[in-house]
Amino acid sequence: MKKISAICLLLTFAVTTFSQTMPAGADPAIWAKAVKIHKKAIVIDGHNDITSPLVDEDTDLRNSTTGKFHLGGDPFHTDVSRLKAGGITGEFFAIYVSGSTMETGGAMHRAVDMIDATYREVERNPNDLVSCTTADEIRKAKKKNKICILMGIEGGYVMEDSLAALRVMYRLGVRYMTLTHNVATNWGDAHRDEKHGGLTEFGKDVVREMNRLGIFIDISHISVKTMNDALDVSTAPVIASHSGARGVNDHTRNVPDDVLKRVAKNGGVIMVNFYPSFLDARTNKEENERSARLKPQMDALAEQFKNDRKAFDDAVRKLEDANPIYMPTYARIVDHIDHIKQIAGIDHVGLGSDFDGVPMLPAGMNGAEDLVLVTYEMLRRGYSETDIKKVLGENLLRAMAQMERVAGNRQISGQGSLKRIK
Ligand SMILES: [Zn+2]
Repeated sequence: MKKISAICLLLTFAVTTFSQTMPAGADPAIWAKAVKIHKKAIVIDGHNDITSPLVDEDTDLRNSTTGKFHLGGDPFHTDVSRLKAGGITGEFFAIYVSGSTMETGGAMHRAVDMIDATYREVERNPNDLVSCTTADEIRKAKKKNKICILMGIEGGYVMEDSLAALRVMYRLGVRYMTLTHNVATNWGDAHRDEKHGGLTEFGKDVVREMNRLGIFIDISHISVKTMNDALDVSTAPVIASHSGARGVNDHTRNVPDDVLKRVAKNGGVIMVNFYPSFLDARTNKEENERSARLKPQMDALAEQFKNDRKAFDDAVRKLEDANPIYMPTYARIVDHIDHIKQIAGIDHVGLGSDFDGVPMLPAGMNGAEDLVLVTYEMLRRGYSETDIKKVLGENLLRAMAQMERVAGNRQISGQGSLKRIK
């Protein structure tokens, strides 16, 4: 009886702290311990695309987004209360700019819109959010029970081939840059677009300038040759802000074992993406097959609802719901953590959810509020509290502090080349 009421108390604690009920079939004792560890830990998520709806739909994160959908039909995963419920200390908002800007232009303008939207969100939530740019500020925010909002550029198109623009992005608070998205820049190859054979000489200058400033080189989305070139040049730790392991699912968005070994030597961190198609080969295959199979119906819906975006999104969702695909649970995230731990070591793995950038999350997970599930699964598999804390945030903090040391006080010191490609 006593034991039961203690468990009930702990469960109440779990519910009120993380808005997260214990998953069906979970071990109550492990769950309670996981909740405790998670609450104490510094939890950092490497990649969140909520910035797109902040700009495109003027989304206000003070309001609940639970059960709501983005323009485009994907579910929301983030708002202030969900970040709090997830026990998050540091969330990197992605300053995402599409590779299509290589044709259309406007990359830098788009990035400025997103950076402004990020600051506006912090300004309207002063009691809960704070802008952070250093590892030390993240630790301080934890003590004050605040959530750090950090920024990382997704898509090197933003700098429009100008090291001056890169420096200005640093001054605005950007602390990582994914060298490409899915399309090559003029100086580096993407995972789906290889035309330079990795990084060009200017691309190597970009890496050196990022080291000098103190911006993480983010190897998510780039080709394996670009990953290796960046590792050849970088004197600071690199990160993958939202990629898993090819050893678990051989997808071009994941990182191969030989690069994992190099990242271990480099002191970097691979932050595992939660997207089921990157986590699991069967989901990826079934998702691709479903897209091909439903294309005629999708095209017909696009024509039928060409003047009503919301009706189109609703119809697509209905069609996909009627054609379900295999869905792994959140435990699959920990399969990637296990693999990276095995190949690179526990010091080189972290979390990079891709919340609000992906159309679905693993079964059991609805959004930022559910991060404790990953802690639970690590604990269930026998990870120590120290190792869990490394994965949740300490590894990223260590790498960030090292990156800051490499940059030293050379940042914005009047140094740096004015070089442009054209
Ligand atoms: Zn991405």
